[in-house]
Order: sequence, then structure tokens, then C-alpha cells
Amino acid sequence: MELLGATTTELREFCEELNCPAFRGKQIAGWLYKKGVSHIDEMANLPKSLISKLNETATLSRSRIVAETTASDGVRKFLLELADGERIESVLLPYSDRLTACVSTQVGCAAGCAFCASAGLGLIRNLSAGEIVDQILTLQAQSGERITNVVYMGVGEPLLNYGNVVKSVRLLNEEVGISARQITVSTIGVIPRILKLAEEKLQITLAVSLHAPDDELRGNLIPLAGKYPLRELLRACRAYSETTGRRVTIEYMLLAGVNDSPHQAQRLVSLLKGMLCNVNLIPYNPVPNLAYKRPETKRVTAFREVLEQAGITVTQRFERGDNIAAACGQLRRSR
Ligand code: SF4
Repeated sequence: MELLGATTTELREFCEELNCPAFRGKQIAGWLYKKGVSHIDEMANLPKSLISKLNETATLSRSRIVAETTASDGVRKFLLELADGERIESVLLPYSDRLTACVSTQVGCAAGCAFCASAGLGLIRNLSAGEIVDQILTLQAQSGERITNVVYMGVGEPLLNYGNVVKSVRLLNEEVGISARQITVSTIGVIPRILKLAEEKLQITLAVSLHAPDDELRGNLIPLAGKYPLRELLRACRAYSETTGRRVTIEYMLLAGVNDSPHQAQRLVSLLKGMLCNVNLIPYNPVPNLAYKRPETKRVTAFREVLEQAGITVTQRFERGDNIAAACGQLRRSR
């Protein structure tokens, strides 16, 4: 059995299978998720007999840091190697009032976004719940401080690894101790999974990457999204808000001359009319060898003003970590 990724209940059951008292399962969970140990032998309050049984019947897989870069603004990007040798990226973003971890959910990605450094890789495999939680534990150990917020915005489409992502959210919330309200799961808009997620009764934030106000452009920018028409997607977002009472975040990456005109802003306003949402504008972080460019500041401001004049709450993600190739997949591709 792989210990990292198991819930306390599963660990209690496992201990019983090993003919040990169930309460040992809670102790193991404490070592895994509160202390973040890397080896079974470090679980100092377990009897030696249980340590040897665990060493015989279980594994504890932690990633290994193979590269790290730090930007001038303090953003730290890590390339982590998993037990099978695959590599993923995780990013640590310090703010004045919080410490955020951005985690990957898959090795590679099937979404094929035209502007993404990871798109050319295709999907290699899903990450397990333990491999997702490992990223937070690893970043937390590196920073020496508690991570307060987690965003599922690294490489991969989280809702195409649904079971493991939802399990990892519950582990972070119940075992690691990160409030569900401080966790954001981002998707390109996998409609059936958005509807399913609404039923999970998690108080997380759902972020939907729209990036275009019409289906044709959206299909060009995010090929996988071509399967999910905008009107149906926004209906699913409204259903998500109604079921959970949570505001949906609409992510809109601004690409110069592609999706950043005032007319396109107006179309976005029409689409979002009456919806419980806020819009996060993200001026593009250019990727080497891709033709897309970041719009000029005045263009971003004009786009923003159209939304705000329509009463939409707009946030703007300030570009961080530019000088360490912070767009997803760039570190992995450079190694
Ligand atoms: S932007 Fe995200 S969803 Fe799109 S290809 Fe890259 S990793 Fe996948």
C-alpha cells in the first residue's frame, strides 16, 4: 500500500489488517500530513514491530527536487521528480498576507492550449492524490512556513483527473489543515465534471479558463474546450454557483491582438450577465517559440474598464516570476 494519499480512515483499516491497533493509523496520518516525513523509519512513536511491518508491506513515496529557480519577486519554481522518474512543476508564491502553492495534477496535459508551454507534451499520466499532496508538503518544507492557499493551476487539467484531485482536496483540508475556502481548482471547462464537483459539497473556489468570448476563438486557443460550448459551460457555472453558493472565478488570459479588443470585452459582458462571478484578467506571460504576445497596459486597462462599467468585479493577476519562466511547463521543457 502507498501511505501518502491515504486518509486516516484508510490508514486505520490498514493497521487493523496488519493486526495492529487502529489508532496507529491516526498516528501515521500525523507523521505523513502534519510532520511531512519522507521515510517510514522517521515515525518515531510507532512500535518497532509496526515500523518493520510497514517497511515490508507499504511504501512512502516522496518527490525529489531536481531544479529550483527563484525570481526577483520571491516566486520559487520547483521541478520535482516522482518515484517513476516523471517530472512535474510546482510553484510557491509568497504574498504579504498568504503563502500560495500552485500544483500540477497531471504529467503533461491533453488540453493542447495554443499559448501553453506544456501543450506539446500531450498527456503522459495522471498524478495520484498522494503525488498532489506531496507537492504542498515539499513546498511547505522548502519555505519553512505553512502554506495557506493552494491553486490547482499547474500543468494538467484537474477535472480530467477528477477522483484524485477531489481526494487530494479532502486530504489537504482534513489532514494537512488547509481551509477549503483557500483552495481553488481551475478547469478549461469540463462540463460534466463541473456539475459533479458541485455535488461534492466542498467549499472550494472553481476557476474556469474562458480566454475567449466566442466558441470559434476558444476552440482555436483551447482545442479540448471545443467539446464544451460556451453557453452550456456558463449554464454549468451558474448551476455550480446555485448549488454551492460560491462565486465562480472566470479566468481570461489577454493575448495581444487575439482576444483583447473592447468589442470582445463587450461580448464577454453579455455572456456573463446575471452570473455570480468575478473575472480574473491575466496579461499573457510570453513563452519562447510561441507567437503570442502580452497586450500593452492601456489595452488591458480598456478591456478591464468595459467589464467594470457593466458592474463585473475584476481582479488582475499581477505577473510574477517572469524571469524564471513561470508559465506552466517552461521549467520542465528546459530540462
Ligand atoms: S494551459 Fe493548462 S490546461 Fe492548457 S495545455 Fe497548458 S497545462 Fe493544459
